[in-house]
Amino acid sequence: MSIVELLEVVIPSGDDWRDHAACKGRTRLFFAPKAERPQARARREAQANRLCASCPVRTPCRSFARANHEYGFWGGESEEDRHLAGFTVSAPIGIRARQAG
Ligand code: SF4
Repeated sequence: MSIVELLEVVIPSGDDWRDHAACKGRTRLFFAPKAERPQARARREAQANRLCASCPVRTPCRSFARANHEYGFWGGESEEDRHLAGFTVSAPIGIRARQAG
């Protein structure tokens, strides 16, 4: 079991998971700026995903975003990833852009 997996087991999954977030102070990586181009979005989300991969609260974070149909990149998942997992937001930006193209 990796240290990340171990911490996911040890850290409680209530609201206090946010106290252990690896993304504190890095909000710009996790939410799209206005008029973000698809290529820039892919680069931003790849950076976010690298941070999520080392985050000890990835599992409760992902569950929270799925349950609340959040926008942005949470727990290693984009809006499109959550859509494909059955947790669609009302107007997923990445999916809408791909359908228009
Ligand atoms: S899994 Fe990613 S989005 Fe969630 S708290 Fe950790 S770094 Fe932030």
